Amino acid sequence: MTSPRVIVVGVGTMGAAACAHLARRGADVIGLERFSIGHTFGSHSGQSRAYRLAYYEHPDYVPLLRRARELWMDINERTGREVFCPVGGVYLAPHGADFVRLAHEAAVTHGLEVELLDGAEARSRYPVFDVPDDWQALIEFPAGFIVPEWAVAAHAQLARAAGAQLREHVRVTGWDADGSGVCVSTDQGPVHGDRLVLCGGAWAGPLCAVPGMTIRPSRQVLGWLDAPMRAPVDRGQLPVWAMELADASVLYGFPRMEGLPGPSGFKVARHWAAHTTDPDDLDRGTCDADADDFLPHVAQYLPSAMGDVTAMESCLYGNSEDGHFRIGLHPDSERVVVAAGFSGHGFKFQPVIGEILADLAIDGGTAHPIEFLSLPQA
Ligand SMILES: Cc1cc2nc3c(=O)[nH]c(=O)nc-3n(C[C@H](O)[C@H](O)[C@H](O)COP(=O)(O)OP(=O)(O)OC[C@H]3O[C@@H](n4cnc5c(N)ncnc54)[C@H](O)[C@@H]3O)c2cc1C
Repeated sequence: MTSPRVIVVGVGTMGAAACAHLARRGADVIGLERFSIGHTFGSHSGQSRAYRLAYYEHPDYVPLLRRARELWMDINERTGREVFCPVGGVYLAPHGADFVRLAHEAAVTHGLEVELLDGAEARSRYPVFDVPDDWQALIEFPAGFIVPEWAVAAHAQLARAAGAQLREHVRVTGWDADGSGVCVSTDQGPVHGDRLVLCGGAWAGPLCAVPGMTIRPSRQVLGWLDAPMRAPVDRGQLPVWAMELADASVLYGFPRMEGLPGPSGFKVARHWAAHTTDPDDLDRGTCDADADDFLPHVAQYLPSAMGDVTAMESCLYGNSEDGHFRIGLHPDSERVVVAAGFSGHGFKFQPVIGEILADLAIDGGTAHPIEFLSLPQA
């Protein structure tokens, strides 16, 4: 088929990347986004997203992450800015805890550039951490973080430059696919095409309507602290960091840097199975109690970085049942591609998911190893 018309629903993280890769491959792309591109109501706001390679969750994530890193470096070159900031990473946990042990095993299996420290060495290398001697820290040199606002804008710009039409403030209300094509219903009338790519984020469950696939939206909180200027948390002193807490949630944060979009200060947050929410009926503001999410842990493990909370934001996860992404052709129609369930760890994969979605929409398959992410089959 020459120049198939591909409709992409949701021009957020994965949708923007899909539009860019589809348009680059010559598809006639229409992207439909219910808000403005780069809005703050979904999963792609908040200044920074961690990138790590030592993934223990499944070995097939690692080749995807390697390809994503190549594509991030390409985005940096094309945009002339550090959309991906290669500042390294460090992961901390009590000795023997899965968080560091399995990441180290993954690093050894995949030949990644890492270094393992004990608690005393970690305190000496990164004095901001007040962790006990019987902790371990894994330093991962190729890690870093991505600025999500710049990444979504860059992909949207690349898509438009390659001919994609990106339509904002168009809400998709349903879709249909048969042997002749797809028809997408919107609040501004129907849109027809040959293929459909569904990238609805926290809204993906009802949008995709895949039997047996549940996507649970949850509200997450991010905070910025006015850490003392002498606190060793600036770029060059501290990489991206994450530590496993006693309840198995993960406290994480980013080096303090000038020139990023959004609030200034030392950004921290906690990765955990937060409360289920309705993305269409959600108070996106924050209140003082939200700081309880992260502040007591900062006080315990990074006391020299404690300061007033100067800003907080909320953001949404779209969680699959087991935390793995759900990517593949819809069980009801091979014309429809589903990308969902990025479960609070998908951003780092954005460009490679875009490449995969373009493969699936145009070729019906991909050479990337995504079998472990497949959709429930009817
Ligand atoms: C606080 C927070 C911290 C995170 N930290 C990390 C991290 O450190 N590292 C990492 O790799 N990942 C991280 N993530 C996860 C990552 O950001 C997400 O996995 C990723 O952004 C999900 O992308 P998405 O395209 O599925 O969703 P989104 O980016 O939200 O895009 C979905 C889009 O679909 C649109 N849409 C939905 N329904 C419709 C409709 N009916 N019609 C039209 N448009 C529609 C929405 O408006 C939205 O723009 C974090 C997420 C959050 C919230």
